[in-house]
Amino acid sequence: MSINTQEVIQNEQNYVLGVYSRPPFVLERGAGSTVYDSEGKAYLDCVAGIAVNVLGYSDAGVNQAIAEAAESGLLHVSNLYHTEPHARLARQLCETSFADKVHFSLTGADANEGAFKFARRYAREQGHEDKYEILAFSNAFHGRLFGSLAATPREKYQQPFQPLMPGVRFAEFNNLASAQAAMSDKVCAIIVEPIQGEGGVYPASQEFLQGLRALADQNDALLIFDEVQCGLGRAGTLWAHQGYGVEPDILTVAKPLAAGLPIGAILMRQKVADAMHKGDHASTFAGNPFTTHVANYVVKRVSQPEFLADVREKGEYLMELLAELNSPHVKEIRGKGLIVGVELDIEAGPIVNKGYERGILLVSAGPNVVRFVPPLTITKEELASAAGILGDILREM
Ligand SMILES: *Cc1c(COP(=O)(O)O)cnc(C)c1O
Repeated sequence: MSINTQEVIQNEQNYVLGVYSRPPFVLERGAGSTVYDSEGKAYLDCVAGIAVNVLGYSDAGVNQAIAEAAESGLLHVSNLYHTEPHARLARQLCETSFADKVHFSLTGADANEGAFKFARRYAREQGHEDKYEILAFSNAFHGRLFGSLAATPREKYQQPFQPLMPGVRFAEFNNLASAQAAMSDKVCAIIVEPIQGEGGVYPASQEFLQGLRALADQNDALLIFDEVQCGLGRAGTLWAHQGYGVEPDILTVAKPLAAGLPIGAILMRQKVADAMHKGDHASTFAGNPFTTHVANYVVKRVSQPEFLADVREKGEYLMELLAELNSPHVKEIRGKGLIVGVELDIEAGPIVNKGYERGILLVSAGPNVVRFVPPLTITKEELASAAGILGDILREM
């Protein structure tokens, strides 16, 4: 295989919608926590496809699951029919969480939109006709479709596409008094990320999540945890909220679920499931046997206690390494497990660009935060090398 780097970039510029800015190299293959471009240059990957590739690249177990899934010949059969991997994945997700039922989606945004529909349906079934509003928070990111975007309070993302889904109100993240003030009996669901990702890597406080649980209960509203980015091992517990002693009524997951294949899921309590009836919600591709077979492998692997303990240990190690950088540019280091944000007194964009030159993939979270969301299988040596490179870059700034 020989890729002509310039031709690929030229074709993208000519034919691909220009909504992304991409750096001037073409990724060709990956192994472990490293990806290689078409010129053979290696990049240590601290992005993992934005918290997707939890098992890195060319993982033997993932590759075997893909081969098995292909072997059956059933990539897809539609939700008109039963398949074994679909049922098994739902069972696995329920057995490893608070949930009683699962519904599959394709992306994080559509998992959240499904959750909003379920919450409205639940309120209707309780006899509350005009209980349809959603309470969301500052700095949240829930997706780019009309409903999930309405719950993502960023002017730049929302303004060009108005009107969005009506009925979303906002309160300040990690401020319980603000949430209490914004609450009303028209709110059918509160949605929150236990650890905000895109918004800048802000973990929720225990008091905040516990307070939201009580607030939802007092108002007969559902509590939705968006764990699309922080869920499934990344925080060092299988579910990010497990560190908080609070359980939601609905949980959404997506990014890491099939280690790179597109899939999302909505996990829910029985009372929510009871409100949804045949024909109420559907998707053509979601939960197909190919993707769910691979996801079964991922959930099994990631939920091993040793795997999670390793994530916690490496997360703490990364925090220490970053603290030891002692850079005057670093204002705060936040996170949990292997979702870590380094807030700087300078813009994160130029740091990410310098990283490309030095062979490391980093991603920002908001204007001033460099985010680490590497494969959960990254080694301590690789983390040390990543922190070292960031230190070098910061010294040059
Ligand atoms: C990425 C993300 C989404 C949206 O997921 P898509 O698959 O891009 O639609 C929703 N919520 C959170 C917390 C995310 O990080």
